[in-house]
Amino acid sequence: MSKEGGGAAMWVAGAGVAAVMMPFVLFIGVSGGEADAGVVGGALNPKHVPPEYLPWVLKAGSLCATITPPVIAAQIEAESAWINYRTSPVGAQGLSQFMPETWAGWGRDDDGNGRIDPFDPGDAIMAQGRYDCALARDVERYKARGIAAGPTLDLALAAYNAGPGAVEKYGGIPPYKETQGYVVAIKSAMAKYTAIADPGGGTVPAGQQMAMPLHGDFPVTSPYGMRVHPVTGVHKLHTGMDFGVPEGRPVLAAKEGTVTFAGWNAAYGNRVIISHGTIGGAQISTTYNHMSALNVATGQQVGVGTVVGLVGSTGYSTGAHLHFEVQQNGQYVNPAPWIGR
Ligand SMILES: [Zn+2]
Repeated sequence: MSKEGGGAAMWVAGAGVAAVMMPFVLFIGVSGGEADAGVVGGALNPKHVPPEYLPWVLKAGSLCATITPPVIAAQIEAESAWINYRTSPVGAQGLSQFMPETWAGWGRDDDGNGRIDPFDPGDAIMAQGRYDCALARDVERYKARGIAAGPTLDLALAAYNAGPGAVEKYGGIPPYKETQGYVVAIKSAMAKYTAIADPGGGTVPAGQQMAMPLHGDFPVTSPYGMRVHPVTGVHKLHTGMDFGVPEGRPVLAAKEGTVTFAGWNAAYGNRVIISHGTIGGAQISTTYNHMSALNVATGQQVGVGTVVGLVGSTGYSTGAHLHFEVQQNGQYVNPAPWIGR
């Protein structure tokens, strides 16, 4: 697999042969557990997946725990933008942009049409899943031996881009700009391919300006205010409240308003900003950060309790949590009184 080089338009038509798609049962957007949990971390939002590729994305995303359907979909978007006929200037082929030498190791006749072909969507996507899962097992082994540290998915994506040897050598994501950019790009693209169960609705409790941005009561692991930075030792304003919440829990709009931003920020990861208009003479906004998935788009109107995304650990974050902020005329203020804490 390779990056598509930035060269001139050298795409050539591949063997445009229709793959035989096998019917299988779709299991999209299933959320398990109790009603308020809504944990759907690995479920696929099929909206942006071409329907003819959907069964293969689901199947390839079920081969191992780390490589979920949203991972497969985000990689295909990055590799080929879902265009199957591409051959890159360096010779990478098909939806998953396999190089011939890599294809030789991972390609099989998954669609049963008698050919092992990187331009057969089924063959390509399943080979991608097998290769990803092998890389995930490689980095799990490094972690078990103390050679590398970090989330398995991040390390597997780095291994996909730079090779597992580079992850082993550096004990984590290698310090290559391209590789670091690749990990961020995939985790950012995963947000739109992740399904979210949205029961919707909610109310602001009496006597409060805003509702809790989460279902249930989670511990505040770091309050708003000045704190000593754990690495630099410097006093710095912590601009929001951190709630310790497991990955995949729904993040809720604290108040009705308009989404003014929903996307990627290097520091905040997947982030949503909601404007609530003027309250008490001041312009009020809330922000929701480090999410693993986004469920709203810029410009969208939301109500109290609308699911804006899922808890995650994207951006500058060392573990799953929700960093929740309130802005008053553009200045960060303590969210606690706003949510009755
Ligand atoms: Zn925080």
